[in-house]
Amino acid sequence: MTPPPSDVGDGRPAGRPSAPSDAGAPGAPGASGPTPTIRARARELLQQVWGYQDFLGLQGDVIEHVAAGGDALVLMPTGGGKSICYQLPALLRDGVAVVVSPLIALMQDQVVALRNVGVRAAFLNSSLEPAARREVEADLEAGRLDLLYVAPERLVTADFLRRLERVPLALFAIDEAHCVSQWGHDFRPEYIALDVLAERFPNVPRIALTATADAVTRREMAQRLRLEDARRYTSSFDRPNIRYTVVDKQNARQQLLRFYRDRHQGDAGIVYCLSRKSVDSTAQWLRREGVDAVAYHAGLDRETRAAHQERFLREDGVVVVATIAFGMGIDKPDVRFVAHLDLPKSLEGYYQETGRAGRDGDPADAFLTYGLQDVVQVRRLLASSDGGEEHARVTQQRLEALLGFCETAGCRRQVLLRYFGETLEERCGNCDTCLTPVRTFDGTVAAQKLLSTVVRTGQRFGAGHLTDVLLGKRTKRVEALGHAELSTFGIGTELDEKGWRSVARQLVAGGQLVTDAEGHGSLRVGPVAGPVLRGETAVELREDRTPVGVKGRGAPKRRRSVDELPGDARERFEALRAVRAEIARESGVPPYVVFHDATLREMAERVPLDAAGLGTVQGVGATKLERYGDRFLAVLREVAPESPVAAPVPARSTSVPAPAAGTAPLAFDATPDEEGDTVERTRALILDGFAPEAVAAERNLKLRTVERHLAELVARGDLTVQEATGLDAARIAEIEAAAVALPDEVRGRLRPLRDALGGRYEYGVLRCVLSGLDPAGP
Ligand code: ADP
Ligand code: ZN
Repeated sequence: MTPPPSDVGDGRPAGRPSAPSDAGAPGAPGASGPTPTIRARARELLQQVWGYQDFLGLQGDVIEHVAAGGDALVLMPTGGGKSICYQLPALLRDGVAVVVSPLIALMQDQVVALRNVGVRAAFLNSSLEPAARREVEADLEAGRLDLLYVAPERLVTADFLRRLERVPLALFAIDEAHCVSQWGHDFRPEYIALDVLAERFPNVPRIALTATADAVTRREMAQRLRLEDARRYTSSFDRPNIRYTVVDKQNARQQLLRFYRDRHQGDAGIVYCLSRKSVDSTAQWLRREGVDAVAYHAGLDRETRAAHQERFLREDGVVVVATIAFGMGIDKPDVRFVAHLDLPKSLEGYYQETGRAGRDGDPADAFLTYGLQDVVQVRRLLASSDGGEEHARVTQQRLEALLGFCETAGCRRQVLLRYFGETLEERCGNCDTCLTPVRTFDGTVAAQKLLSTVVRTGQRFGAGHLTDVLLGKRTKRVEALGHAELSTFGIGTELDEKGWRSVARQLVAGGQLVTDAEGHGSLRVGPVAGPVLRGETAVELREDRTPVGVKGRGAPKRRRSVDELPGDARERFEALRAVRAEIARESGVPPYVVFHDATLREMAERVPLDAAGLGTVQGVGATKLERYGDRFLAVLREVAPESPVAAPVPARSTSVPAPAAGTAPLAFDATPDEEGDTVERTRALILDGFAPEAVAAERNLKLRTVERHLAELVARGDLTVQEATGLDAARIAEIEAAAVALPDEVRGRLRPLRDALGGRYEYGVLRCVLSGLDPAGP
């Protein structure tokens, strides 16, 4: 029977007060005796089947409890490792585990991944042909299954329940359990009927899992699924590997591109836009810039959508541009960034969407561009939303929370977690405001100037015109309206146009200014402006930074986990990645189902040369070792360095990797000769954002020497042409086209190329582009 209800936290600050005495204590009161042997056996299976060294967070506790027959409610963020919480007990207990899952795609992915580690899993849903369905049913009755994934509507049919009564059952797992909540965003009516399980199978343990952080939803979940007495496991909702960045929106697409090139060139990512139209045009634009981008929204026909999703899942480095229709049930662990070009609808939504980045625990980015227009738009939606006072109040609060997150000068993660009821004592050190603290200033006078200009111009104008007045610009409009005569005309020259837009945005966010409901962008004085105008309240404003993407070079150096590998380990990584892609293609599964990046990275670092060594790499279980071991070992033997490598076994780290880790040169690194060293230094400076001229000055070298380094780096593949030249894809394409079009006898020579391009490019740039052209190419 189920033990008395209790809460177990993971020792980190959590939303609900947790009982620390319970945390991880084996033999908790009432349980039918979780013994150390269960846990030991569980750990053994974890290593054998999945190739993981140890449990993450609360996994071990949950598994022990459920394996011993207890009910559980598991609240963990996306990427927290929920699946193993029921998959492992399924192997520990007799009979088949029945897993309820709301999405067909999700079921299929999970089943493929399970079979790939040698677990007997199958699914039943509407996508199966009758013959295939009968086969699965036969396997079920014959006891040939460890796990069976079922759609909820099928599970609760009389026929299926009768079938289940005839076979031994290990447990029921209810995945995405928040779908039972009528107030949640993913309500599935079929989930309501799942309470029948408690009645019909009182002795079969049930485990419900969700990543929803909302307290109301959690309560409803427990009630409707009859899990009030289940033990509750709540882990922190923090995702320490995700770096949150919010930039002042200038030109969102350029900012995105800059961010992509600086930090995520060649990575898989999701870009969210509000409208279908902007999804299409953004995807198109990215493709023109050389990014492998596809669009996804409900307006595309079904085949196109499926094809795009498939490419995203199966291929390395595809970027999906999507409306929020995309993402639920996407299990891809190596999404390296999630970018929002428009303000999301709520912080809950934002957290869920960004949570799709970095499920594998490796560093990932959440990037949001945010500007005055976003605030105006959201305020307008709010004003026009109907649905009663209560609804309006809730919406208002949600909006305030969202704006508060965007405008904070404090730690973003602290704001996010506080919203979900958790307290993070210290600043996180892995968000934009922690990494580059934002300066704030006393903006009272600026606020007064802007507010009185709003009043004096009759509360009918937008930020643009107001700024013109404050800066004393005699535009046609200013003259026509006689606004040059106002007492506030020209009193705001201490800020520039951007500065005033920023003040306007922050005052709208703070409610001192409000926008018109029609969305023309005109500003009126808001309810809390009085005290500011009278000088009774001070206004603290943040100083917006120069946003990424407008200043050309000078953006932060990209830092990817793979990039942190020293040169030849990275080469090995690429070789391993190639064989992974090959295997994935052959067997029709996504590459990450073969091995995760982290696994390849560890192989590239440690270079195991026999099966025993390979088996100790994280993520290499017995089945995968047998299935893929030889092919990966063959590659490793081929690319192995001369002298042996002895790197320690790195543990999966859920915290932010220290920059030092993995960057130290390995023992086999040859001492770089003088020349190699100087080229490397050039590369480092270029990646740090220095222009070639600046590198030359900094290092006291001739510009030509630096340019020669760059050409060499491009030829070696250590810099992309874009990195070396700072040119955009269109320009590079132009030069490449001209180079290819040159007559044979002068092809490859700089002077004719420069002339062909009308002298618009310097030799240094042309040399880099030529180095980047495949000599065997056209
Ligand atoms: P969730 O369902 O909570 O989003 P998953 O079950 O998909 O999370 O797990 C997230 C990632 O963590 C997966 O890539 C999984 O392989 C990995 N993972 C889970 N448990 C462990 C573990 N004990 N050690 C290492 N990696 C793990
Ligand atoms: Zn922070």
